[in-house]
Amino acid sequence: MWNDEEAVQYRVDFHLSKSFKSAQRSVHPIAQFNNTNGTSFTFAFALESKKDGKLYYNCNQCVAAKQKELVDGSSIKTIHLYNNIIVNGNPSDGHYPGCQPIRSAQVHAEKKKRQASQLVCSGLSSVASARLNLHAEMTRECEEVGI
Ligand SMILES: [Zn+2]
Repeated sequence: MWNDEEAVQYRVDFHLSKSFKSAQRSVHPIAQFNNTNGTSFTFAFALESKKDGKLYYNCNQCVAAKQKELVDGSSIKTIHLYNNIIVNGNPSDGHYPGCQPIRSAQVHAEKKKRQASQLVCSGLSSVASARLNLHAEMTRECEEVGI
């Protein structure tokens, strides 16, 4: 087991959206973890382990924070999911400096309005590309809508 040190199970909600056009995104929608204080982190699918089937998701808010300011020695928070349960500890810990969780209430109230932007933001984590300038632009937009 990966989480033998604590019995707490951290679960995520998934944002299923019909507007997702990418086949990959419809299989791996945005995962959201709700903190106890009414804020949330959202995580975008990054990759699936071929070895054991674990899914890796990157924190969208960390990506935005990193775009804003590079901090040496810091990395974006990644959660490991297995059967929809987070298996690498508390998802609230170990975020990038400046990573700001979003307000959960806002997520529901502005969900519709944000769907289009969310598509864009969800693409940020799979930054395998060289389109860094474009991503920086997107990050700015994401921050404006509070993602
Ligand atoms: Zn984060």
